[in-house]
Amino acid sequence: MEDRFNRQINYMRISVTDRCNLRCFYCRGVQDFEFIPHQEILTYEEILRLVRLALSLGINRFRITGGEPLVRKDLDSLVAGITALPGVQDVSLTTNGILLGENLPKLKAAGLRRLNISLDTLDRHKFLRITGFDGLDKVLSGIEEALSAGFDPVKINVVLLRGMNDGADVDEFIALAFSLPVHVRFIELMDFSPAEGYFVSVPEIMEDIEKKYELEKIELPGAGPARSHFRIKGMKGSFGFIAPYSHHFCGSCNRLRLSADGRLRTCLFSEKTYDLRTLLRQQVGDDQILEAIKTALGEKPGSWQDAGGYGRKNGLRDIGG
Ligand code: SAM
Repeated sequence: MEDRFNRQINYMRISVTDRCNLRCFYCRGVQDFEFIPHQEILTYEEILRLVRLALSLGINRFRITGGEPLVRKDLDSLVAGITALPGVQDVSLTTNGILLGENLPKLKAAGLRRLNISLDTLDRHKFLRITGFDGLDKVLSGIEEALSAGFDPVKINVVLLRGMNDGADVDEFIALAFSLPVHVRFIELMDFSPAEGYFVSVPEIMEDIEKKYELEKIELPGAGPARSHFRIKGMKGSFGFIAPYSHHFCGSCNRLRLSADGRLRTCLFSEKTYDLRTLLRQQVGDDQILEAIKTALGEKPGSWQDAGGYGRKNGLRDIGG
């Protein structure tokens, strides 16, 4: 479906829970975080109904996220439900990787092939400092098992944090893309208050990397906003950058977000959400829900400035990252 700014909206990020098994210091709101009561979280049946309706509007690419999606029971049944729907072009999962290893066989059987794993450092002590949990080994073994199981692509998302992982860690992630066929993406930190002071820009990191290595620019299919993607001779994988601050990509934004409690959000920078859960639970017909989705799409802001700009109060865990 095309919106009023001629953007093709075809991608929905679905948060299945606001719970997470990590406590990354930068991924929280300034307000005390209250978990959504269980009865307010959409059931898998409700999510599947919305996915079916979204498909009828041409939204055919889906990413499952959270919170940490793998803390929700039987996630593979939702994945299987989505992959079985006619017209679905792509289903992927974003995870912190802690519970990945044990879930891989079920996820693969459910039809999942694409994985994004969030990992900000390859240093065990820093991992503990960032996430509050000593779990680096679990994430690394999850990555290796995913590659052995044939998941492709396996992308690793690294949020750049000044003074924390903007030095040697960058080289270590580049080395990882030499030894494993993973696609590392360095991401600019978005300014939710607990993250203040940690921002590093992508151009800054790029400049450092360009001084050290000879880069070959490549196209990574389905790379979304990570338009600059590179390989260094001899690399099994690749690396790239996502720079929401340095290179805004509102003009090509193709996405909607569904929160775990059934609110549709058309822009990360807008506080406005559209309550689909109430409609679902009032047992209204498909037409009425479709109308609500179309209204949301019709009001999708043209840019982050239109949406009210930066300075959100809530972190991504609440919004669905
Ligand atoms: N738990 C899953 C995971 O770790 O991938 C999915 C949800 S998590 C909120 C999604 C991603 O958002 C993670 O890569 C996390 O690092 C990133 N994130 C959280 N807060 C952020 C911020 N302020 N700026 C940029 N990325 C952020």
